[in-house]
Amino acid sequence: MTVALVLAFGALVSLHATSGGEPAENDRDAGYDLDHVVRETGTKLQWDPYRGIGTLWNGKTSVSFRPGSSIVLEDYQTKHHIPGIERRDGALRFSEEAVETFKSIFAVPDRPAEARRVGAIFVDPGHGGRDPGTIGRHTVDGELFEIKEKDIVLDIAHQLVDLLEERYGDREVVMSRTDDTYLTLEERTEAANSVPIREGEVVLFVSIHANASLNSRASGFEVWYLSPEVPRDGLVTQTSAGVKDPQLLSLLNTIRDEELTIESILLAQSVLEGLDKTVGEHTGNRGIKKESWYVVREAKMPSILVEVGFVTNKEEALLLAEDEYLNKLAHGIYTGIHNFVKDFERQE
Ligand SMILES: [Zn+2]
Repeated sequence: MTVALVLAFGALVSLHATSGGEPAENDRDAGYDLDHVVRETGTKLQWDPYRGIGTLWNGKTSVSFRPGSSIVLEDYQTKHHIPGIERRDGALRFSEEAVETFKSIFAVPDRPAEARRVGAIFVDPGHGGRDPGTIGRHTVDGELFEIKEKDIVLDIAHQLVDLLEERYGDREVVMSRTDDTYLTLEERTEAANSVPIREGEVVLFVSIHANASLNSRASGFEVWYLSPEVPRDGLVTQTSAGVKDPQLLSLLNTIRDEELTIESILLAQSVLEGLDKTVGEHTGNRGIKKESWYVVREAKMPSILVEVGFVTNKEEALLLAEDEYLNKLAHGIYTGIHNFVKDFERQE
């Protein structure tokens, strides 16, 4: 989890307890500064400047708050009502009640985590039908050699699904398309969002694509997740959350979004490592990327998009035409998903 949080908040700035000058007073009446809270609770603060939300974290439990609001969320799900968290002159101030409540939340040792389970894995081979995706055209031994993204990714997806089904007899493994069919992006995400799961379960969304570049030397694999700067809307609706307070709704939405982002990053990282093990010796590891891909943005679940390699690079295009290489890619993605599921469901 540590790695994930560092990554997730990599772009965030730390917020200082005071805005400089006079050190803030700490007492019943004036309230307490951030240094005091962090010291008393044994936590660290992650401050998200885009959403104005702070999260205190001690390695096990997290408490998220928004200055000016009395609604505080423990572990992204349990609601507390704690008045007296404000931002004054650019610095955070906490009431005595807030400090005491935080202390009691963080003092509870090793509470069993809410059981969460990956109920289904949705595998989405990109493009299809009249949409070939990117096409690589090269001359090999004086002959035209052509390779289409839609075919490569379908092949990998089938192999991946076989591996997943073999491992997970008790989970749904669903493909957006099983043959050369055209699907809109909306149809893909709608299908993913309607996979039936039980309470406490999530669906993993894994979209598979191949890359193209004007630079014919560009090569390698990369994994995308949604950028935290692009909030996903409508994750928590009034009915699903059972709340009418619009402020609470917006807080729940942003926090759920943050949780999804962290999970997506973890999944991306795990799949990247898996690919690195199986094809790292053949091609470059281009790392984790964040972007607001439509197909990922609309999926209300941990979601990644895997770019398996460049069809515009002759050497890589030839690799992508080999069954054995596609099998290695499928194994890499499978290992990444499997390791993510193990970590995700680990009970401490
Ligand atoms: Zn594509």
